[in-house]
Amino acid sequence: MNKEKLVVYWSRRDFRLADNPALFHAIEKSHSEKAYFLPIFVLDEGLLGDDVWNIGYPRRFFLSHALSKFSKEYELFGIFKGSPESVFNQLLKQFDLTIYANHDVEEFSRKRDQKIANLIGADKFFSFRDQLTVSKEVVSGGGEIYSVFSPFRNNVIQQFLDAKATPTPTLTHLKYPPLNLLNDKINQHILDTSNLKANEIQKNIFSIIDKPWKIKVGDDYNFNLDNIFERPTYSDWYSTEEEVRYHFRDFVNTKIKQYKQNRNSLGADTSGEGATSRMSVALKWGLISVRSMKDIIVELAGDPQQEGVFSYISELIWREFYRYILYHNPSVLDTEFQKRFQHGEIKWVDDQTARFRFEKWIKGETGYEVVDAAMHQIAKTGWMHNRARMIVASVLTKNLGVDWRWGQEYFRAVLLDLDEASNNGGWQWAASVGADTKPIRIFNPYLQQENYDKNGDYRRHWLPADYNIKTPIVDHKQAREEALKRYGLGGVKPRDY
Ligand SMILES: Cc1cc2nc3c(=O)[nH]c(=O)nc-3n(C[C@H](O)[C@H](O)[C@H](O)COP(=O)(O)OP(=O)(O)OC[C@H]3O[C@@H](n4cnc5c(N)ncnc54)[C@H](O)[C@@H]3O)c2cc1C
Repeated sequence: MNKEKLVVYWSRRDFRLADNPALFHAIEKSHSEKAYFLPIFVLDEGLLGDDVWNIGYPRRFFLSHALSKFSKEYELFGIFKGSPESVFNQLLKQFDLTIYANHDVEEFSRKRDQKIANLIGADKFFSFRDQLTVSKEVVSGGGEIYSVFSPFRNNVIQQFLDAKATPTPTLTHLKYPPLNLLNDKINQHILDTSNLKANEIQKNIFSIIDKPWKIKVGDDYNFNLDNIFERPTYSDWYSTEEEVRYHFRDFVNTKIKQYKQNRNSLGADTSGEGATSRMSVALKWGLISVRSMKDIIVELAGDPQQEGVFSYISELIWREFYRYILYHNPSVLDTEFQKRFQHGEIKWVDDQTARFRFEKWIKGETGYEVVDAAMHQIAKTGWMHNRARMIVASVLTKNLGVDWRWGQEYFRAVLLDLDEASNNGGWQWAASVGADTKPIRIFNPYLQQENYDKNGDYRRHWLPADYNIKTPIVDHKQAREEALKRYGLGGVKPRDY
């Protein structure tokens, strides 16, 4: 018997219609082949389990929020429960199946896609460049993979500015497979959202993913964040494509030209407005593409060379850079990027000391006010200002002597915008083991708060009213000397940042 043709758009973290190459091409294909069209999201319970990737509560929450809104707004999703293999295996039994997806740079995602391509046939699996806009094949004049940001940016910036967005598809005349046609085994996987409202879909998804908010660091150190924090509901965040575009256009109209001067101001961040765009959450979940952002910038702000605009575009290229690094060096998620540190050369503090200090750091009880304020910000909002991320990461690794992998893991558990490439790049940079030409940078938390939170607005805003820690758990000067020894740089006198 001839099987009916089915074109699947498999969404992972691209909850948008605009500039969504996989969605656009899947729809084109379904029209040209007169095939059924089925957009799906696979809620992989294995992946959402307690240990794999440690998908913390904030991301579970945002995923359920954004996914339910997207699926309801566009009536555009079959939400399937189960592993991708099991879902596609079942569809394959019934249909002549073609899959369209946007690819990612993480090794885990690439392997998952390869498995599915093997299952259905490589000529039936189409994957599109999305998360990384510039070519991952760019190399330096000497033919090497870049390991320093500025030359990378200089090489790719024109490519980035020239990148074209894919047209937005129209959702009319789509031929969805009637659900009652799907066989029982497939039906078991489907969350039937047809009669549910968005918040009911969210609850339904959330009940599946509402597991304890746990973290595991080192070899065997486990603890439950539910014992430390109340779970926030992140109600201030945008969660639809339209809200994101509105928000970003407003940022470009009103703030991008002053971005360079203001982007580091922690004080500005507390006004509720902030001087940065807060687009990282939207980018993480694919509520907008970076190409659409670039087009909006060019449309509204004009000259990409204007100081603020250039500075903002450079940050978007940092994001590209870290994706490029992760693509070419998948081991960086666990191992130092710099070769000189890849064999345990840095002797972090002993386990017991590390556990004590790490918990103090998480709870915002280090006694460095700016660090403690930032740690309260992340726990309450699922987001932290970039300057604060750099400070808390430097303090954890340099002052407290705790392995950067622990910090990376904590951010995985609490960030709404968790992005493996940028998170890893940020942690490795702050720990002075990543893509940086300086042998070491030691942030002085007092200097940082003086420079970036002069009036104390940020600290007043985020520190609890009864905060009263007078002495930090480690003295900065002493910690600095120890850090230099730990990094094998005793006798070197780098400046304090
Ligand atoms: C230790 C550490 C961990 C980090 N973890 C993450 C993470 O998990 N996810 C994440 O998106 N970013 C991460 N960053 C980068 C940066 O802190 C955030 O992207 C930024 O704070 C998001 O706020 P925004 O959207 O207002 O940024 P803006 O200043 O408005 O910048 C615009 C966009 O440019 C990109 N960008 C800005 N700064 C950086 C940077 N340093 N590296 C890479 N991309 C950048 C982001 O996509 C951001 O949304 C981390 C940085 C550090 C130091």
